[in-house]
Amino acid sequence: MTTIPHMIIFGPPGAGKSTQAKRLVERWPPMTLSTGQMLREEVAKQSPLGKQVGAVIARGELIDDPLMADVIRTWLTALPPDKGFLLDGFPRTVEQAALFDEILADLKRPLNAVIKLSLSVSEAVYRLGGRRLCYGVGNEEIIHINDEPAVMRCLERNGLLVQRPDDLPNVIVHRLGLYAAETDGLLALYAERGLTHSVHAAGSTEEVAQRIDAALRASMEAAG
Ligand code: AMP
Repeated sequence: MTTIPHMIIFGPPGAGKSTQAKRLVERWPPMTLSTGQMLREEVAKQSPLGKQVGAVIARGELIDDPLMADVIRTWLTALPPDKGFLLDGFPRTVEQAALFDEILADLKRPLNAVIKLSLSVSEAVYRLGGRRLCYGVGNEEIIHINDEPAVMRCLERNGLLVQRPDDLPNVIVHRLGLYAAETDGLLALYAERGLTHSVHAAGSTEEVAQRIDAALRASMEAAG
């Protein structure tokens, strides 16, 4: 890997992708961009882009590929040359990946790593299916139903343990299917280029972070 990180992170629901993306940015300091987050901010600001994409996001549909590519091109063009990037949420289609290749070639920023977090279906169901929100006690806290001290802390404060409707096991399996349908082609494309680091996402946040660091360090050493 060159000294300036140009990376993408992929991960199924429950893999802790956003958490790991945040940690990576602290450890390796590239700039980070979560496209979902960024688009939501544009909608909140009611910027021209926000007005254009608000209704599409509200319908749960994807922004069309050329517009999304324009958004990324604008963001990357403004990125100082000594800053790298970690993209979370882009590319999302094979078409976006092709447009992204053109953008990176134009800006002379070769992609040097794709981090692929992986989690078995049973691990995802355990993690997401056990996730509860401790509700009604001020600071809402996300806990796991098997974390007995956290459950007791919540109940003793008269909190409610609430499960998100999309964290029910059948919905989790459906979400995992959607993720696979969306990313299989993309991941195959990057795997063929030898850029992909597959990292098992079970275990603690710290354990997963260490696996990612080890994979990235190995690839930097290999690149000299
Ligand atoms: P997310 O937070 O990743 O679920 O993204 C929220 C919404 O933003 C999606 O439902 C899409 O409408 C839009 N979005 C985010 N990333 C992309 C992308 N790469 N291509 C198209 N639409 C996107």
